[in-house]
Amino acid sequence: MPKKFIEDYLEPHDEAWRGMGTIPKSGLVLKEKYAPFDARKKFNISVGEPRKTKCRCGEIIRGLIAPEECALFNRGCTPAHPIGPCMVSTEGTCSAHYQYMRED
Ligand code: SF4
Repeated sequence: MPKKFIEDYLEPHDEAWRGMGTIPKSGLVLKEKYAPFDARKKFNISVGEPRKTKCRCGEIIRGLIAPEECALFNRGCTPAHPIGPCMVSTEGTCSAHYQYMRED
């Protein structure tokens, strides 16, 4: 999508990110003149803060802790049974760590 379309239809918005909290102007929403096409407004959908879990992906992707510092790493959370998004895909930090940890 050309950048002009983004600028024409969308505007920055404070967005809540799982594991990271709300970051000012980190998301995009439809401009007010397009409100009739905004599903959140049309269907009165409220998107609250992400639910809290024991998954520590937010800290891991910010480099604050290593995967094995999560109490669930390899103790309930594995690539075969992922609990958090960092373990879901092969590129996920926890998944990659799990795979290469086992090759040492
Ligand atoms: S994906 Fe699994 S191991 Fe990684 S932080 Fe989340 S719960 Fe812990």
